[in-house]
Amino acid sequence: MRIPVFAANWKMHKSGLEAMAWVREFALLTRELSADAAEVVIAPPFTAIAVAAEAVRGSHLTVAGQNLYFEREGAFTGEVSAGMLKAAGALSVIIGHSERRRLFGDTDESVRRKVAAAHGAGLTPIVCVGETLDERERGDTLAVLDAQVRAGLDGCSGDQIGALILAYEPVWAIGTGRNATAVEAGDAHAHIRRRLREWFGGAYAEHTRILYGGSVKPENIRELIGLADVDGALVGGASLDAASFASIVKKATS
Ligand code: PEP
Repeated sequence: MRIPVFAANWKMHKSGLEAMAWVREFALLTRELSADAAEVVIAPPFTAIAVAAEAVRGSHLTVAGQNLYFEREGAFTGEVSAGMLKAAGALSVIIGHSERRRLFGDTDESVRRKVAAAHGAGLTPIVCVGETLDERERGDTLAVLDAQVRAGLDGCSGDQIGALILAYEPVWAIGTGRNATAVEAGDAHAHIRRRLREWFGGAYAEHTRILYGGSVKPENIRELIGLADVDGALVGGASLDAASFASIVKKATS
């Protein structure tokens, strides 16, 4: 059985103090949630990771980075390595978010190197894939997903595939208020799982958690989480407010 994962991607929002207040509020609102019902991950900006990691200590929450650079150390001004994230208290890291791909030059090759760096440091990669609106309208969705999954996970062992997390995030659904329909999300998730089985073997592919991301809200989580291959959600806007994220997690697990 795959334990669902709910990940809050705060993007460029929240100071350390705000992260602490969020964790306090979320913990209160979800105190009935059993630890095996769901894994809950928060991804603050780099500057709040250490404080957030301290704040979640002893709770069922864990902390993720939003990105990393694949080198271990060196003259890379402004970058943060996998080992640094780990040392700051992160257990996982988002890789290849469409905003990184679109605005900051992430490619399938840099995603592959970042995934390898995350594994090297003992971090769980949360690898984002998804098509743009143009690609969907041209009928290229599944081909885009194939290319991103294949290239991004190239070199991973079966065990690593089973332990990592994928996030299907149609680019046109991120921050737009327009989520994928159940049919669109269901097709994409089933396709990704099928490919994981073909490429890495069914025994591993059954363990990989595939999250849906793109305008997830308390109002639409039930329908999405009900789909066979949807194993949780990566949430941006609706995760900034602890109450709304708590409502998503509670609705998905009740
Ligand atoms: C995201 O940034 O990963 C995301 C899914 O954002 P939103 O929930 O705001 O669409």
